[in-house]
Amino acid sequence: MPEDYKHNKLTPSDILHNTFGYRSFREHQEEIIKEVMAGRDAFVLMPTGMGKSICYQLPAMLREGVGIVVSPLIALMQDQVHALRINGIHAEFLNSSLTFEEGQEVKRHILSGEPDLLYVAPERLLTDSFQDFLRRIPISLFAIDEAHCVSQWGHDFRPEYLRIPEVTRQFPDTPRLALTATADAQTRRDIVQRLGLQDAAAFVSSFDRPNIRYRVTLKQRERSQLLAFIRREHPDQSGIVYVRTRKRADQTAAWLQENGVAARSYHAGQEQEVRLRNQERFLKEDPIVMVATIAFGMGIDKPDVRFVAHLDLPASMEAYYQETGRAGRDGEPADAWMVYSLADLVSMRRLFDASQGDETFKQIQRQKLEALLGYCETVECRRTVLLRYFGEHHVIGCDNCDTCLQKQETWDGTMAARMALSCVYRTGQRFGVTHLTDVLIGNATEKIKNLRHEKLKTFGVGAELSKKQWSSVYRQLLATGLLSVGESAFSGFRLTSDSWLVLKGEQEVQFRQDPAGEDIAKKRKNKSAKIAMEDLTGEQLQIFEKLRALRLEISNSINLPPYCVFHDKTLKEMAVQTPKTIDDLLEISGIGQTKAAQYGDQFLKALASLK
Ligand code: ADP
Ligand code: ZN
Repeated sequence: MPEDYKHNKLTPSDILHNTFGYRSFREHQEEIIKEVMAGRDAFVLMPTGMGKSICYQLPAMLREGVGIVVSPLIALMQDQVHALRINGIHAEFLNSSLTFEEGQEVKRHILSGEPDLLYVAPERLLTDSFQDFLRRIPISLFAIDEAHCVSQWGHDFRPEYLRIPEVTRQFPDTPRLALTATADAQTRRDIVQRLGLQDAAAFVSSFDRPNIRYRVTLKQRERSQLLAFIRREHPDQSGIVYVRTRKRADQTAAWLQENGVAARSYHAGQEQEVRLRNQERFLKEDPIVMVATIAFGMGIDKPDVRFVAHLDLPASMEAYYQETGRAGRDGEPADAWMVYSLADLVSMRRLFDASQGDETFKQIQRQKLEALLGYCETVECRRTVLLRYFGEHHVIGCDNCDTCLQKQETWDGTMAARMALSCVYRTGQRFGVTHLTDVLIGNATEKIKNLRHEKLKTFGVGAELSKKQWSSVYRQLLATGLLSVGESAFSGFRLTSDSWLVLKGEQEVQFRQDPAGEDIAKKRKNKSAKIAMEDLTGEQLQIFEKLRALRLEISNSINLPPYCVFHDKTLKEMAVQTPKTIDDLLEISGIGQTKAAQYGDQFLKALASLK
């Protein structure tokens, strides 16, 4: 029987240890909980995976009444609630997936006073009947999850969110907690203003995700590169591959399957049923690679995604951060891996130029695009560049990104840039990279002869560089805004105002030497005490696999994702420490009393049978 926390005078740390099985609070968690316990409002900005939920779950367990959690992620509510229940916490949810009778049953249960948490969709919160219901029960707090949905500026505006204050205003003594992982300043201001949180304490965490290793490489043969990456670094692990179109999602998934990788696709063009089934498999099967368009991901709450791969460029730095942020939510080492090519850059630029909107809007979009391309081409630490974009200036080097792990060679490209730009100008700003390169290296093709381009001054001036090197030059010029593209697929490169600075000799250019291949894959310099997979001995690995099989068996029997039973990290610790008693088990991170009582014996038996 779960404990009656409210009347047992337990402290937040007691619950953290006993119920969640965690050793210590993470940054800001304890302060936020204190604030809410004292009945005050709070605004929480914390990157995905850092542990926002505990900030409202814990006070809801300790304060009188039920905590109302407003969340737009209907599809996930059931799993969230079940995950709480197997930790011994009483939680319920109300949304459109329940029948009328089921809804009534939930309300009766709430009225009994037992549950500590009730998850509701915003539409439900706003109905008169639900508000009547709220007036009949004691409420410990309001948690407004995904609070950025209140901002039109953000990427996921939901009009119902604007009306949340109509409800919370009726309960002026009940603390409100707004939580989000969306960082930009405008969205932040919107949340505070629209939810009326002017007097709330704000808790803003660093956006650094130290366990994620960032890598960006040149696209050569994307599929083989992806397959090699998965086989070498993540065999039998879960991951997400992002692509831009539905067709690419289906084709890539099929191809991975042919090559022995358990893969599925997910995109908005699929029948709802297929899509849900694939998502379900991703969440509940162990392990699977999901090839998806950006339609996939919002609210994907799977902590053991070991890699996120981009075969196409994301839409912006925000999107990149969000998408890569779905890796490693359990805090274990994870990879953010991306390949891109000159052709990708051209189509990104073209997409942008063809976009509609007023000048200010376009100006903002342009800056966003520049930032993304700058990130791809940087010779600086990627983490530094990424965090600087989000307003954090303190990081210098990380030892966990490709530029830190493998020194980036640069070369003085001023002359090459001048030749390349001059060639664009002299050929009339109408041609793409193939033709321009032919002119530069002096390759007298039919096209060149027809156009009489072999008579140009730039014909053959760049013979010292290879085609590949010129392609790299054009890519980097395009990425840094020293060159632009025309709108239609047939228009070529054009000069920009900055191009002239280079042509007139007023600006120097440094280029990055494109790396030959990837060989930093395995060099994980992990400063923390975390146990990486490759640190396990062969014997420990066998134990881990055995425990994993047991976990899958259990999770199937209760129809929940495996990570709801135990995280990989917990299994790893078990494999290393080989606990013999329930007390030993309780020492392991992620095992609280309820789970120890529920599954402890099975795991101890499995461990004993291996001796
Ligand atoms: P968010 O909502 O911020 O994305 P979650 O609340 O889902 O993150 O937490 C991410 C993961 O971190 C969860 O598996 C959670 O159980 C775990 N976690 C949260 N707080 C702690 C802690 N203090 N110690 C260890 N693990 C934690
Ligand atoms: Zn770095």
